[in-house]
Amino acid sequence: MTRLDPDRDSAPWWAAVDRGELLLQRCASCGVPRFPARALCNRCRSRETAWVPARGTGRVYSWIVNHQRFLPDLPVPYAVVCVRLDEGEDILMYGNLVDAAPEALAPGLPVRAVLRDGLVQWTPA
Ligand SMILES: [Zn+2]
Repeated sequence: MTRLDPDRDSAPWWAAVDRGELLLQRCASCGVPRFPARALCNRCRSRETAWVPARGTGRVYSWIVNHQRFLPDLPVPYAVVCVRLDEGEDILMYGNLVDAAPEALAPGLPVRAVLRDGLVQWTPA
């Protein structure tokens, strides 16, 4: 699998994924969670942040099904899902659907995170 290179803001998140932890960035001033990581809080413009454990659960918001093998170790077809985390409907994470066929997907399907191969992936809860 391949993944994005961490930048200054996302490096703590990727380091946690490598440890098997799913974190969210939270504003240390007003408490609003945010993802992806960024330097400023959207609500209060504070630069103070904390990293807190995420529940690792959410609901499928949208998805695509790929029928082309872009990487040799990917099964085809495979789905990439957009998940609304239970921490907030504006907190979206993307990842491959694992341990289920794309036909299992439906809007609002409860899913949980699976940290595997250095990536956050999703499976039906
Ligand atoms: Zn804030």
